[in-house]
Amino acid sequence: MSHYLMVIDQGTTSTRAVLFDERAQVVKFSQREFKQYYPSNGWVEHDAEEIWSTTLDVCREVLQRTGIEANQIAAMGITNQRETTVIWDRDTGKPIANAIVWQDRRTAEQCSILREAGNEPAIKDKTGLLLDPYFSASKIQWLLDRVPGARQQAEAGQLAFGTIDCYLLWKLTEGKSHYTDATNASRTMLFNIHQQCWDKALLKLFDVPLQMLPEVKDCCADFGQIAKQWLGGEIPITGIAGDQQAALIGQACFEPGMAKSTYGTGCFVILNTGPKVVKSDNRLLSTVAYRLAGEVSYGVEGSIFNAGTTIQWLRDGLKAIDNAAESETIANQFQSSQGVYLVPAFTGLGAPYWDPDARAAILGLTRDSLAEHIVVAGLQSVAYQTRDLLEALRRDGAAELTSLRVDGGMVVNRWLCQFLADQLQVPVVRPKVVETTALGAAYLAGLQVGVFDSIEDLKLLWQQEHLFEPSLEKQEIDALYSGWLQAVDRVRN
Ligand code: ADP
Repeated sequence: MSHYLMVIDQGTTSTRAVLFDERAQVVKFSQREFKQYYPSNGWVEHDAEEIWSTTLDVCREVLQRTGIEANQIAAMGITNQRETTVIWDRDTGKPIANAIVWQDRRTAEQCSILREAGNEPAIKDKTGLLLDPYFSASKIQWLLDRVPGARQQAEAGQLAFGTIDCYLLWKLTEGKSHYTDATNASRTMLFNIHQQCWDKALLKLFDVPLQMLPEVKDCCADFGQIAKQWLGGEIPITGIAGDQQAALIGQACFEPGMAKSTYGTGCFVILNTGPKVVKSDNRLLSTVAYRLAGEVSYGVEGSIFNAGTTIQWLRDGLKAIDNAAESETIANQFQSSQGVYLVPAFTGLGAPYWDPDARAAILGLTRDSLAEHIVVAGLQSVAYQTRDLLEALRRDGAAELTSLRVDGGMVVNRWLCQFLADQLQVPVVRPKVVETTALGAAYLAGLQVGVFDSIEDLKLLWQQEHLFEPSLEKQEIDALYSGWLQAVDRVRN
């Protein structure tokens, strides 16, 4: 019997294929970057066809490098950059325009108009999201309004919309499957997360014809078969989730109160809130964490725009370090920032502040401040921002956190993980398999075809690599944190 699982991990800057064995260990992966288009200030686009061709390339490469054939693969999972919007022609499969990426701000004014007309409360109520260009709805509307003939074609049923998972699925199955999963649907701003269906009033508000939308399935489902021509054999596609939700699943955060935080370029925290939708008064998002066998588990999500970018800036902008790893050496040596704070609002502040116009600052400098103190302050800022999110969650009445499972490129930094545990006053746990996003999709795909028996099975597969226990005195950490809050106040617009 075939036991391998293949995952397509389609990210914002690169596409990866990851092959797992039946113990959920990575056998091999392959990765390709693709082009980013910036046609205008604040616009970000991808060529969906290039994404598709990089997808095929990486899948083929993984098979070639391992000598494993399609018929040895039990199932495929897909995880993807969320919200990014593709519209294509159902006959030709050709996108009608470049995909509009989640980061793209071109629909800011469209969203302001809707906000001023008083639509935000209803949208937030139904979708759990803030009225912001980030999500797909205003991007779909923009394309239908601007691409000549698009609206008539969409109304005639000629065009299909999908997030990247949905577009890749359609290509992989040669147009047989026009499906998405509940996590991806929950980021479109057209999906009612309580009723688990496309919302007629929102479709009307954004002027999006229902007939262009995919059918929404559970995260574990029969999504169709990869056509034989692509990888030399048919493979069932049985698991789909958006990247941050996949990471939550890959971290086996299956109980309410469990949370994961991913530290890469930015930082994304999701707390599992179980069957309950926690409505945030602090600008956090309520979202579908996963849907299995028709049962929804919800999550609250907060994102920080600048985490790893702070380290990159210390390296490339300030030139205070030669490489990212040096930040840890310095922090070990100096331990403290000597009252210096770095607020890395290079591109504004994310949750819970949502201040796009704030800009970064270094505060608290004295005559004996050194570049090294700024480096320590940079690392600390990542922990303080995480605490900001968790404090917001607490104010929203979410379940108390018992521990935080971390992943992403930054968590190799032990000093950072320890400081994080101190600031949050909860244990911070680093897993053995740090490829949590791909792992989550593998878990989903494997659950559906019986490679894994149950959620309980997955909980056992997840393994801790290191646990960081809080060690500093609460008084000390609170004093540091109150300095941070003052620093944030100074940079807010
Ligand atoms: P993404 O998936 O968003 O591209 P990654 O998860 O690959 O990002 O993480 C890369 C980020 O981690 C970079 O911004 C880098 O500066 C940061 N990073 C890498 N190593 C370290 C380290 N030892 N200490 C602190 N930050 C690090």
